[in-house]
Amino acid sequence: MLEDEIEDLVNDLLEQENQSNQKSTQIEPTHADRGRCAPVLLAGMSLACGVSTPKSPRCCTRLRCASCDFGVVVFHGKRWLANTDHLFLRNHVPDGNLKSQLASEAGGRAFACQCRCVSVRRNESKTVSALGLRWFCIGGDHSRPL
Ligand SMILES: [Zn+2]
Ligand SMILES: [Zn+2]
Repeated sequence: MLEDEIEDLVNDLLEQENQSNQKSTQIEPTHADRGRCAPVLLAGMSLACGVSTPKSPRCCTRLRCASCDFGVVVFHGKRWLANTDHLFLRNHVPDGNLKSQLASEAGGRAFACQCRCVSVRRNESKTVSALGLRWFCIGGDHSRPL
């Protein structure tokens, strides 16, 4: 009986330790995490593209959607027309004629997977979680398109 209790206690402690480890890697990316954004930001063109860290925010261009499992396309100096819908995205991302739903927006960036599209203005910067997106950074060379 006592043994069980001790085991539970040890398990709890281990769990807490794991959780605090995870937190610390989010704040200070370890070597293995280099090349992956933390936090993952979508931003207008006042922010350069690259790998984000808490100290130097960058716009992520290596995104993938966990909902539709497609890579996220990025257009610089564009925004999505307001009537861009889920059906259009499903039929056109990534290789279709997306330009028909894109308008010019100085300094803006337009992002889309097959299920969601987002436009960000020049000076805006938002985390994917604040936007309610299930997008994650796949890491790697952010100067190259997906
Ligand atoms: Zn990234
Ligand atoms: Zn999606």
